[in-house]
Amino acid sequence: MSAQVGATRPAAAPLLELRAVSREFRLHDGRKLHAVSGVDLAIEPGQALGLVGESGCGKSTLGRLCARALDPTRGSVHFDGRDVTRLDARELRALRRSVQFIFQDPHSALNPRMSILRSVSEPLILHTDLRGARLRAQAAELMEMVGLPAQFLGRYPHELSGGQKQRVCIARAIALRPRLLVLDEPTSALDVSVQAQILAFLKDLQSRFQLSYLFISHNLAVIRALCPRVAVMYLGRIVEQGPTEEVFVNPRHPYAEALIDAIPVPEGRQPPRRIALQGDIPSSIDLPRGCAFVSRCGKASAGVCDVAQPALYASGPAHGVRCHLYAPSA
Ligand code: SF4
Repeated sequence: MSAQVGATRPAAAPLLELRAVSREFRLHDGRKLHAVSGVDLAIEPGQALGLVGESGCGKSTLGRLCARALDPTRGSVHFDGRDVTRLDARELRALRRSVQFIFQDPHSALNPRMSILRSVSEPLILHTDLRGARLRAQAAELMEMVGLPAQFLGRYPHELSGGQKQRVCIARAIALRPRLLVLDEPTSALDVSVQAQILAFLKDLQSRFQLSYLFISHNLAVIRALCPRVAVMYLGRIVEQGPTEEVFVNPRHPYAEALIDAIPVPEGRQPPRRIALQGDIPSSIDLPRGCAFVSRCGKASAGVCDVAQPALYASGPAHGVRCHLYAPSA
C-alpha cells in the first residue's frame, strides 16, 4: 500500500476530473485565503458524488470550480477529457450547457419579476432557436418532468411554495439536457416535509437521465441516501473519499469518524461514541503547517501531525484517506 491519489479514482473514464486543484482568494490586506487546496476528485458518467463537511470548509467554492464559475489558482479541471480552463468561446458555451448549478435558496435563484415561463425558457432562448409555440411546449414539458402543472408557467415566483420554486429551478437546470448537475445544499432552505419529496425527485431524475451529480451537503443522511460515493472535505482538502457505505460504516479519517458519529440516530439506538468534534474549523488564512485537522484531532501525534501534511493514502479499492495513521509505514 502506498500514497497514491490515483488509487482513489473510480474505474471508468471520469466525466469530471479535478487534478491537484487549489483556489486562493487575495484579501484586501494582502493575505491569502486558501479556500481549496490540492483537491483530486473524479465523477463518472451517471454517478452521484456526495461532498460533505462543515460550513466554511470550501465545499461551495469547489462546486463553483467544477462548473467553471471560478478558475483554479493551481491545478486543472477536466470535463469529458478536456481541460476546461483552455476552452475557446464556442467550447465554453457547450460546457455551460453540459454543467448546471442548483442552488440552496430557490427564492433568490429566481428573478421575482420574471414569469415562470420566462425563467424556465431563458436557457432555451439563450442556447437554442426555439421560439413561440415550440418554446412554450418545451417549457410545459419541462414543468411536467419536474411534477408541476403547465398552468404554473403563467405565475410568478411569489405565487409558488418553496418546494415548487425549487422544482422550477430544477426545470431550468435540466432544460438544456446537461450531463452534470452541481447541487449546492438543494433542500436545506426548504421545509422538512418538502425536502424528502425533492430528494426523491432528484434521485429519480438522476437515474432516468443518467445524470452525474456533485451533491454538496452538510446533511450526511441525505448523502447516504443519494450518493454511492462520498468525499469528506476539511479546511479546503479532501480528507477521505470512497464508497459511501464503506465510509459511513467504517470511517478511517478521525474527522470523518467524528462527523459520522454526530449523525442523530433514532431513539433507543445509540452508536458507540468514538470522537466528539470540538471547537470550530480553523481559519483558512493561516493554515496549520502539518495536518489541517491537527488542532481538533484526538489521535494527533506530536512531531508528526503538526509537522508534515499527510498525503492521500489508499485504504482499499477506490478509497483514500489523508491521515498519517494510514501511511504505509504506520
Ligand atoms: Fe489526526 Fe494526525 Fe491523522 Fe491529522 S494526520 S487526522 S492530526 S492522526
